[in-house]
Amino acid sequence: MATSLYVHVPFCTHICYYCDFNKVYLSGQPVDAYIEAVGRELALRMKDQTAPLRTIYIGGGTPTALSAGQMQRLLSLIEEHASAFADEMEYTVEVNPDEVDPELLKIMSTKGVNRLSIGVQTFEPELLKTIGRTHSPSQVEETIQLARSYGFDNISIDLMFGLPKQSLANWQETLKKATELAVPHISAYSLKVEEKTMFYNWWRNGRLPLLTQEEEAKMYEVLENETHANGLNMYEISNFARPGFESAHNRTYWLNQEYIGVGAGAHGYLNRERYENTGPVSHYINQAEAGDYPVREHHLLTEIEQMEEQMFMGLRMIEGVNKDMFYQTFGQTVDDVFSAAKEELTSQELLEETPTHVRLTKKGKLLGNEVFERFLLG
Ligand code: SF4
Repeated sequence: MATSLYVHVPFCTHICYYCDFNKVYLSGQPVDAYIEAVGRELALRMKDQTAPLRTIYIGGGTPTALSAGQMQRLLSLIEEHASAFADEMEYTVEVNPDEVDPELLKIMSTKGVNRLSIGVQTFEPELLKTIGRTHSPSQVEETIQLARSYGFDNISIDLMFGLPKQSLANWQETLKKATELAVPHISAYSLKVEEKTMFYNWWRNGRLPLLTQEEEAKMYEVLENETHANGLNMYEISNFARPGFESAHNRTYWLNQEYIGVGAGAHGYLNRERYENTGPVSHYINQAEAGDYPVREHHLLTEIEQMEEQMFMGLRMIEGVNKDMFYQTFGQTVDDVFSAAKEELTSQELLEETPTHVRLTKKGKLLGNEVFERFLLG
């Protein structure tokens, strides 16, 4: 039984140049009708839910693009349809630094939200403009101070590296500012140029000056060192936390456990089936209003696919894939199924084994995607 819930809020007040998430401009959107449609989907998906929710994550888009009244309504609907909240539940909302005000924070705190994930990306004003963000570095600091005054201590910030023309010194400066803020969690991702983004168009026209793989690798090394020096442990290839502040919600994904996904374009994993909801907001609302599951695509995983996913999701964690857990789930060992990939990757020093786990080496962490691909059997 799934005990994690993801809720998607697809509205943004601006569109960042690198972003390929399911999102739309807020202006002119039927936001109230969307929230009611989310309520209908929650009612459908939660009706058989008996176990208390252990984690909730509201992401986007930008949840803080909602008005205070809309946020209140969304959180009330979640409360109404969830059977119960677990005592130690982790409840996260994604936040943009230029959109948080006391009213929103008060509502979130009253409704049980206890973790904020702030989209910072960089502390360099020029780079913020280059990637299409509208907030300023000082707004990040103000947001964190304000959030703390409302009792939010569990705060994560998102950073990006490998940005166009970003220098190593510039990345070091961003990390310095990030660690000075003393947040207990940092996520840091390298830029990926995705289709259907402004960056993709510029890249195709030769107008996006990207960094080399070596430059990115150096930035990753600096990231690892700086976070470590400031008491944040790398527990997943892109995530760093003080002990006890690791993201329980994201761990659900990495452990390949089931979760409920609700909202336009949201993904979910239930009863061995992966599903993707309808993306366009109006289609989503229509399907939900008709009382249907607003699903665009679903796929029942074969056992092979489950084993592949267990490996490439689990290897993202620094501890790696638990060998006993793999055997208990599938009745076969990692060696039974993946001996060829394991041998090859071990000889290339990308993979290593402990008595309990199979995990990436230091070199393997840099080449994660290449390693993960080797666990595809099909
Ligand atoms: S990065 Fe976040 S704020 Fe920017 S367009 Fe994408 S979803 Fe919206």
